[in-house]
Amino acid sequence: MSFDYDIAILGSGPAGYSCAIQSASYQKKILLIEANAQQLGGTWVNTGTLPSKALREAAKAAMRYNALFPTDSPKKPYSRVDKRELLHYKNEVLDSKNQKLKDNLHRKNVEMVRGVGSFIDEHTLEITDPDGKKKRITAANILIATGSRPTDPTTFTIDHVNVLDYSSLLKSSHIPRRMIVVGSSINAFEYATIFATLGTRVTLLNESDELLPFLDQDVRAELLTILEKQSIQIFNGVQIDKIEKNQLRNCTEVGFRSKTATEQLRIFEVDQVLYAGGYLPNTDTLNLKAIHIHPDEHGFIQVNDEMRTSVSHIFAAGDVVGYPSLASISFVQGRLAASSMFDSALLDEPGDAHIPFGIYSVPEIAGIGLSEEGARRLGFQVEIGLASFSQVTQAEYSRTEEGLLKLIFDKTSLQLLGIYIVGEQAADLIHLGQAVMALNGDIRYFVKNILNYPTFSEAYQIAALDGLAKVEAAE
Ligand SMILES: Cc1cc2nc3c(=O)[nH]c(=O)nc-3n(C[C@H](O)[C@H](O)[C@H](O)COP(=O)(O)OP(=O)(O)OC[C@H]3O[C@@H](n4cnc5c(N)ncnc54)[C@H](O)[C@@H]3O)c2cc1C
Repeated sequence: MSFDYDIAILGSGPAGYSCAIQSASYQKKILLIEANAQQLGGTWVNTGTLPSKALREAAKAAMRYNALFPTDSPKKPYSRVDKRELLHYKNEVLDSKNQKLKDNLHRKNVEMVRGVGSFIDEHTLEITDPDGKKKRITAANILIATGSRPTDPTTFTIDHVNVLDYSSLLKSSHIPRRMIVVGSSINAFEYATIFATLGTRVTLLNESDELLPFLDQDVRAELLTILEKQSIQIFNGVQIDKIEKNQLRNCTEVGFRSKTATEQLRIFEVDQVLYAGGYLPNTDTLNLKAIHIHPDEHGFIQVNDEMRTSVSHIFAAGDVVGYPSLASISFVQGRLAASSMFDSALLDEPGDAHIPFGIYSVPEIAGIGLSEEGARRLGFQVEIGLASFSQVTQAEYSRTEEGLLKLIFDKTSLQLLGIYIVGEQAADLIHLGQAVMALNGDIRYFVKNILNYPTFSEAYQIAALDGLAKVEAAE
């Protein structure tokens, strides 16, 4: 049987994009179908990963300027940042990324079409273009990489002026003086700290009982100390009763209470609310029943290790397959789907079992492997090595001395079990430790090898020396 394409890909986010580029390296005939009439890159480029990092970069620049050149009457960071300039900078970043994606796909001979794709049968897709015109194509293989979309709140509405979501936040023309962020996701936490860095008085209403429960306790303690200095108020385990505009007082009123103490309604007055709630997979409009693929009760598609669905030539990758719903993982899954589909041995080797996490808050947080508590629970003979960022020379002169790097290792073999970091460049720093862990190295690596100086990586050396001193003292 012959088909129009070797592969058709639904969605141009990190999963779809990486699958397209990887498939191109196998000289395949590829069609990439994107529902968004203007942009490529999905949540990654347009409303999630990249724009939030661009906003954060601007906030950090203002913070660092204040830290390096303090004055007697310190200016709020938002007085140094004009929101219109900020939007301009963010738009430039996104436009440039969109153009780069377009150019790369073009260079690799990936055909692109704008429209919403859905299944007619196991090899046929119907594409409805932005004008409503329909056409059908066939493909030998299909990748579903349609991502996810934010859920709507149940007790209030998003008006995109006073109550914002991820998209309207990025178009808002001013930096609010007082803001409430509602949500228990990492994104909610990131945005709360980004606005606090810009000088906004932020309250985070976390619907879960604990903030970032997976963090190592020492790192969490350091984080909470830093957040206290930033004056971010955090309420855990809350439910939101109402969010309404108060015309008389020209503010937005947020009524919330603790989930356990239902009688205590608290009302806060703010300029704007950001709703950073959960996500739903984009699987409902794909007509999956035509191909007998049945998503789970949350709408996620089940796949095997090769990203193959229950239909052997149909693959799924990225947010549509659920946890951990990250761009970093989506890129890998998209490439893996391509190599499975076209039998390439190059990407066959399984990666390191340890997946790092990075939280792009201010301060940054990252981790890999076991926390100290987790390692003790599993029965390891645990020792730890600590480095405060105040001991790190680069942190000293860049005035980013708040932070902690913690090595968790086996007392006898000195083998690394986990690494947790809070502080400047944590998400980048974690990769040095990740490599040592993946190659079964132990903490002596950081002491025996010369690291560039001054760098934030010095923290590894300080923590390893601290850990080794503890081991020697115990002998
Ligand atoms: C605020 C925020 C910050 C984030 N920060 C990070 C971060 O720092 N690091 C990280 O790793 N991850 C981050 N993420 C998560 C990351 O953005 C997502 O995990 C990632 O974008 C998912 O990739 P994807 O390819 O599955 O889908 P998406 O990026 O959502 O792309 C899916 C694409 O499919 C298209 N589509 C949908 N339905 C159809 C259809 N029927 N036909 C054709 N096209 C269709 C959509 O228009 C979209 O372009 C963040 C998310 C948010 C919201």
